[in-house]
Amino acid sequence: MTETKQKTAIVTGASRGIGAAIAARLARDSFNVVVNYSGSEMAALEVVAKIEAAGGRAMAIKADVSDVSAVKHLFDSAETTFGGIDVLVNNAGIMKLAKIVDSDDDLFDSQVAINLKGTFNTMREAATRLRDGGSIVNLSTSVVGLKLETYSVYAGIKAAIETMTGIMAKEMRGRTITVNSVAPGPTSTELFLDGKSDEFINKLKMMSPMERLATPEDIANAVAFLAGPDGTWINGQTLRANGGLV
Ligand code: NAP
Repeated sequence: MTETKQKTAIVTGASRGIGAAIAARLARDSFNVVVNYSGSEMAALEVVAKIEAAGGRAMAIKADVSDVSAVKHLFDSAETTFGGIDVLVNNAGIMKLAKIVDSDDDLFDSQVAINLKGTFNTMREAATRLRDGGSIVNLSTSVVGLKLETYSVYAGIKAAIETMTGIMAKEMRGRTITVNSVAPGPTSTELFLDGKSDEFINKLKMMSPMERLATPEDIANAVAFLAGPDGTWINGQTLRANGGLV
């Protein structure tokens, strides 16, 4: 297969957690994978090494998704190395939780910059740079449906991402490019586990009729479906991958 015929996926925030599992899964599905990270270089290089050891093709690219020029560099690097881009997975994100009354400006501004502006930056770049037939998958959260206390800024931004998803799907008319979101429930990663008591983690776990947290691979399966050949008729949708939580 020539360089230009093999499909290429950019996965933002793929140095650990859900993004690392998505990168590994898309590589297994024969995509060239761009493993994006902003600070965790060693972890990103390990994700690349594991993909290569399994016979896949990947490279790590540092880019803070909140930085417009870094995002351009991310897309340029992917095109230069792999000859084109077919799939964008907007997975990079941070989570800071507090009731609105206790939320400071940094809590709001940092999540807007990385989670919302970061997703906008890559979607805008992808609009002109994805090859026809490609797809965009954005990570939302099932808390958009659950509406848990302390999640208002984080989940409010994800609700905005779900709305941008549905609208951009229509804006891509004529390009055969799908735009969807995956909204995980509680998933066993640093972002979810850090700073939470065992009691709260167990409470969230037991809210699902499956009585467990998601693994990053559970979420990667849903993303791979939307990014792959079986998902081509799903467009402008949000798929809640949460074991029946909401
Ligand atoms: P995680 O384990 O904390 O990993 C986050 C990833 O994002 C890391 O690779 C991190 O890399 C990267 N990242 C952070 N800021 C970045 C930036 N400015 N630019 C580029 N990359 C950046 O988080 P996760 O749990 O896997 O979450 C992944 C996505 O799923 C997020 O969008 C999150 O909102 C969503 N989600 C998670 C859960 C859950 O329960 N875990 C539930 C619903 C939705 P660096 O260290 O290199 O910055």
